Amino acid sequence: MQYYSTKRQTSPVSFGEAVLKGLPEDNGLFMPERFPQLTRAFVRALPQLSFEDAALGFAQTLLGEDLPANVLHDIVRKTLGFDAPVVWLTSQTGVLELFHGPTLAFKDFGARFMAQTMSYLLPKEDKPLHILVATSGDTGSAVAHGFLGIPHITVAVLYPKGKVSPFQERQFATLGQNITAIEIDGTFDDCQSLVKQAFLDKELNQHLRLSSANSINISRLIPQAFYYVYAYGQAVRKHGNKPVYFVVPSGNFGNLTAGVFAQQMGLPVAGFIAATNANDVVPAYLQTGKYLPRPSVATISNAMDVGNPSNFARLADLFPSWEQMRKQLYGYAFSDEATRAAMREIKHQYNYIIDPHGAVGYLAWKQFQREHAPADAIGIVLETAHPVKFGEVVAETLGEAPAVPERLQHLLHMPKLSVPLPKDFAAFKAFLMQHYPC
Ligand SMILES: *Cc1c(COP(=O)(O)O)cnc(C)c1O
Repeated sequence: MQYYSTKRQTSPVSFGEAVLKGLPEDNGLFMPERFPQLTRAFVRALPQLSFEDAALGFAQTLLGEDLPANVLHDIVRKTLGFDAPVVWLTSQTGVLELFHGPTLAFKDFGARFMAQTMSYLLPKEDKPLHILVATSGDTGSAVAHGFLGIPHITVAVLYPKGKVSPFQERQFATLGQNITAIEIDGTFDDCQSLVKQAFLDKELNQHLRLSSANSINISRLIPQAFYYVYAYGQAVRKHGNKPVYFVVPSGNFGNLTAGVFAQQMGLPVAGFIAATNANDVVPAYLQTGKYLPRPSVATISNAMDVGNPSNFARLADLFPSWEQMRKQLYGYAFSDEATRAAMREIKHQYNYIIDPHGAVGYLAWKQFQREHAPADAIGIVLETAHPVKFGEVVAETLGEAPAVPERLQHLLHMPKLSVPLPKDFAAFKAFLMQHYPC
């Protein structure tokens, strides 16, 4: 199948090219030219399927022409390896826990699938691929873990010294192997600027094949549809055939777009609810029909502090008019105070500790239930990260800190393997040339 650019100024490319390029030359975003339909038998069988089988059925339907069946199976198996259970707070409200992966957030799904897919697609006779990522914490750890041990690909994670929590730092700075953590004496913006300069530097690009693990790569989006398919099956198994709505705490809207992919392929989703913090560009658009991006503001659900969501171009392509978008998509925004109140309510009523992003989703579901939902509707709120990732906010709000999951406790005692560097491009370039000899 071909993948076209949302800007339609370049020719469509194969799946493999879309993954290895990341972005089309016209700066649009890649989209599949059509959405093959899941069979009715598959949808009916979903309540009985394991996560792996549900994901594989979806993946074969969308990518079956582009990847051999055994390869796709291997990629899906290596991507998953951990569960995505729906925990039911009530018979109508579920929480889809997407934090059981190695870095405790849903970005693990995208990063792992991208790593496996790139590894398969990369011509073996080519020079190794060196991925550079700047991070303020989360993306870096998901990408580093996703590519850990993948032959022929290395990752350099640049992060600002002293500005990443010790636990986060341990998640990407203790790995070794093909992962190099570089601690920059500067800010996150300095890290980003070093990465940008590296991509523009002629000499460096003659020596090394550089790449970014771009968050808008189509291979990061597609695997995020897997858990919608699986969660739908879990809802039907538990509660029978009811209208199922997904509530998605959103920043760049990649997660929500992946859900719409599944719906377009025939997953019977009744609708999507976009939940945001004060960065409410999309909920405002759904209200007014005007899309007005603006600088982001800082909130306690900071993975959603996005003022110009990159995947809005994909949503606008899927729903070309405002009226069409409003039929499938509802949007609500909430303040930090409301978010904290929801975290307390969920703890007291259900004895469940939710992170600030999930809490924004819970609020959106409550409001949708009051205003629009059919009486028997089921809402599945995506819990995008483990509460321990936002441990300080959780502790301040609930008066108790969430426990670090046992499987990660060893990290706290692992030696840090970072390379300290100044925020100086010449030093960074010299390090890359010496560290990655060709
Ligand atoms: C990245 C992230 C989000 C936002 O996801 P998008 O796909 O950018 O909308 C929400 N919550 C957490 C915890 C995240 O890390």
